[in-house]
Amino acid sequence: MTVSPNFSLCVYCGSRPGTDPAYADAARLVGEWIGRHGGQLVYGGGRNGLMGLVARATLDAGGRVIGVIPRALVEKEWANQDCTELHIVETMHERKREMAERADAFLALPGGIGTFEEFFEVWTWRQLGYHDKPVGLLNVNGYYDGLMAFLGQSVQRQFMGDWQMDLIACGDDPGRLLPALVQAAGITAAPRLDAI
Ligand code: AMP
Repeated sequence: MTVSPNFSLCVYCGSRPGTDPAYADAARLVGEWIGRHGGQLVYGGGRNGLMGLVARATLDAGGRVIGVIPRALVEKEWANQDCTELHIVETMHERKREMAERADAFLALPGGIGTFEEFFEVWTWRQLGYHDKPVGLLNVNGYYDGLMAFLGQSVQRQFMGDWQMDLIACGDDPGRLLPALVQAAGITAAPRLDAI
């Protein structure tokens, strides 16, 4: 019997682990939190880097994992056959649409160009009103300090408004950011009784 998850969080993060072990620790914490709260992870379906770590931690903590990967990347990104559901799609656009539709909220962890693109896409979709789901940025050990400073400069120089910045939640503590995102999605996520 499939128990429907309490919430579904789409996580964007690096297909590499990065230099600082804090990135891997954060990815594991996020996965554990999802699993312990009876949630579902939606992600890009790979085994590499932080992507693989967040998926492994979610599964180990009893959560569901939905991976969505384009056919052309199945080998390159080492598709994760351990996913509760692994969806192989034809294009990157399909992947992003599927991931977005299956999520109640979005969270970006440290990552590279793919992570940036995905984060900016859901943020811009939010400002255009294509969805109304919360978007978060987990700033592990200052990884996104430079980006946040640059975005602040864009506001100062009037290419962006404060209201656009207010559409994202940026924080360095997964223990605060995750419940805030889920709550902003209108969901109360209590820990599973067997996980307390
Ligand atoms: P990265 O942050 O560069 O390690 O990539 C993380 C994930 O983003 C990988 O699964 C990539 O396939 C994915 N991704 C999504 N959109 C893009 C894009 N336009 N270019 C590169 N990677 C992308």
